Amino acid sequence: MTATPTRQRPAVNLDNSFFFESLAQGRLTIQQCTECRTHRHPPVPMCPRCHSLSWQADEVSGHGTLTTYTALYHPVLPPFVPGYLVGLVELDEGVRVVVNLEFAEDEARIGMPVDVVPQRYDDDLVLPAGYIPGRPHVVVSSTESAVAQESRS
Ligand SMILES: [Zn+2]
Repeated sequence: MTATPTRQRPAVNLDNSFFFESLAQGRLTIQQCTECRTHRHPPVPMCPRCHSLSWQADEVSGHGTLTTYTALYHPVLPPFVPGYLVGLVELDEGVRVVVNLEFAEDEARIGMPVDVVPQRYDDDLVLPAGYIPGRPHVVVSSTESAVAQESRS
C-alpha cells in the first residue's frame, strides 16, 4: 500500500491562524491595523507603521500583480511536478503574498495581473493560489491532487 504524498503543512501560530482559517472558509483575509489602516503580511503582532497592537482580519479582493516568480525543477518531490511555479503577488492593498501559480511557465510575465484565491489542495489543506484572471481554476502544480473548479471571477 502506497500513501499519497501531500503538501507540507504551514506553520500555524497565534499570529497567522486567522489567515489559514479564513482560507479554509473560502475567504482571503489580510491583517490590517485598526489604528492606521495599514495592511501587513505575513502577520505580525505589532503594526510596523504606528506600533499599534490592535488589528483585524480584512477580507480583500485577491486582485494583484505578479512581482516575481520562479519555476522549480530540482529537487521536486511528490506531490509537486517539475516546473511548478511559485510567485510573489502584490495585492491591490499593497501587501505581497507568496503563492503557487496555477498556470504554465511560458504564460508567466512579471507585471501581469493575477487573482489570488483560496485553493483546496487536499482534505485538510487550503492555501492561496494565483490564477490568470478569467481562467478556470485548475491545479497544475500537482498531479496527485489535480482539481478543477469553476472560475470565481
Ligand atoms: Zn498601524
